[in-house]
Amino acid sequence: MLRIDVITLFPEAFYSVLDSSILKRAIKLKKVDVRLHQLRDYAQNKWRKVDDKPFGGGAGMVMACQPLFDAVKRIKGRSKKKIPVVYFSPRGRKFDQPLAEKWSEEAERLILVCGHYEGVDQRWIDECVDLELSIGDYVLTGGELPALVVIDAVARLIPGVVGKAASVHEESFSLALDRKKEYPHYTQPANYKGRKVPAVLLSGDHGKIRVWRLKQTKN
Ligand code: SAH
Repeated sequence: MLRIDVITLFPEAFYSVLDSSILKRAIKLKKVDVRLHQLRDYAQNKWRKVDDKPFGGGAGMVMACQPLFDAVKRIKGRSKKKIPVVYFSPRGRKFDQPLAEKWSEEAERLILVCGHYEGVDQRWIDECVDLELSIGDYVLTGGELPALVVIDAVARLIPGVVGKAASVHEESFSLALDRKKEYPHYTQPANYKGRKVPAVLLSGDHGKIRVWRLKQTKN
């Protein structure tokens, strides 16, 4: 089982996604264990304040390091194993399928930290973060959607999560398709108001179908 601890100011942002469809199943089957931690619970001030104005001036608020240091320390506990701490940031390395595969195969635990506002105090990143991870070249309001993206992409690759292993084997970006994008799919009816399915898919000739499909993959 892969245990994923998420540090966030908005745990409620996760509920509906984790409680739907395949992720819900993965959690029920104990393939993944997602634990949500409210960062505010770690603030050492009576207002539970976790952010402050940036040194040097400028717009927006910066998440302070104390609650982040303490939350990660508590979550790591006495574990002797290395637990990767991932901080979501547009500046990070781009998340991709090979990394999702690696984590689905090798990781026992992950700690995912969601930023908000302008981001977090760099001193905490320098000392505590193993990997800064971006999900794409655009700016979101928080790291909650990126965390859900990573949880989804990793969980579906864990054996037994998606019904048929074959359906995650041959997909866009998978090794089986040379990391290319997948071919198009069609289902019943074979003729929908004059829009016909490519004839080769109805031919029953699996060799030909294979060739056609591979030709339809894209770089
Ligand atoms: N000031 C930052 C943006 C902060 S957005 C900048 O200019 O780079 C607030 C938070 O949302 C970030 O701390 C990060 O955790 C998350 N976030 C926003 N866009 C993201 C992206 N593309 N990938 C991963 N995390 C992102």
